Amino acid sequence: MIKPINHVWLFFTDRCNLGCGYCFYKYRSQQQVITLSTFENILEFIRPVAPVEFVFSGGEPLVDAPRLKEMITVIRQKGVARYISVQTNATLLDEALMGFFLCHQVNLEVGIDGDEATTRRNRPGIGNFYYTDIIRGVKLAMGAPGSFTATMTVHPSSAVKLLDNLKYLAAMGLKSVEVHPAFLESWDRESSDVFLEQYRRACAWELKEGLSGLIGRGYSEFSKGAWDLLAVPSGKILASWVFLSFPEKVREHFYLMDLSLGFSGKFLPQAEAYFQALQEHVGAHPNCSYRSISNFNALLAVKTKSGRRYEQRVKHYVDLCEQIEEIDHKIMGTSVWQRSGMKVF
Ligand code: SF4
Repeated sequence: MIKPINHVWLFFTDRCNLGCGYCFYKYRSQQQVITLSTFENILEFIRPVAPVEFVFSGGEPLVDAPRLKEMITVIRQKGVARYISVQTNATLLDEALMGFFLCHQVNLEVGIDGDEATTRRNRPGIGNFYYTDIIRGVKLAMGAPGSFTATMTVHPSSAVKLLDNLKYLAAMGLKSVEVHPAFLESWDRESSDVFLEQYRRACAWELKEGLSGLIGRGYSEFSKGAWDLLAVPSGKILASWVFLSFPEKVREHFYLMDLSLGFSGKFLPQAEAYFQALQEHVGAHPNCSYRSISNFNALLAVKTKSGRRYEQRVKHYVDLCEQIEEIDHKIMGTSVWQRSGMKVF
């Protein structure tokens, strides 16, 4: 049952030094950090399918930098990773950490939403100090020879500035930016239309300027129908990042196992129903994308009693995502489109 795993996500800490309004891991205790024995159990569990792709996230991973470094060192020593990425808000990045990441071949994925006004609105509580720190961290990572990507989260209230913010990040020197609508925010018809209009214009600008690859489209790429092994700080395992956005009363329906108890990988009774539903989804949607699998999980979450109140938001979000994917797929086949003379925009 362990195969195939897409990524191993380690949400090893739920502590963060920021308080973004759209945080996809809202229901955090701000106290938990994964124990080393649980971490070792995770490595033992995935050993049969190693090497795998690891993504460290939180919370803010750099808040618990000593533990993060310890875990990355062990992973490299054991040779169980083919790729390691750390998602960070960049505020705590310094030269010493950068040196460590370079030495251990770690990709940095920085969250940056655009200009200062957008950041202030999206991430309440951030003053000049934090914004300056984000920019300083991003520039430090950009100036290093290692691998570096960025994620721009778009809130409905800032959708109208999507293209301006993308241009702002490109002018800073960013070469790859994933553009995502904030999950579980209120994407009504009006804000979704604004997003899509802006996104189309951003894609057209990317093509016109010859900046192919600036907008990351990994979420729209075909998935192998795999699940993500996602560990929360307690050692419990989920199959997708979207479950993190819901309160514990929803999440508890989707825990697949508890790797704090050992590495044998004994699945909880509810895991069987989950994997069956996933298999049916993939069977009905062959070649579906990573985004499609995420949305499948979100729609499962709103079927639970405690998840029902999010149903409308999730449905609007899924509709928006499907249209984003349609645009992405046209762009991804753009050479065919140019040859055939078909019009995308
Ligand atoms: S930096 Fe990331 S983890 Fe921290 S509050 Fe913002 S979105 Fe959440």
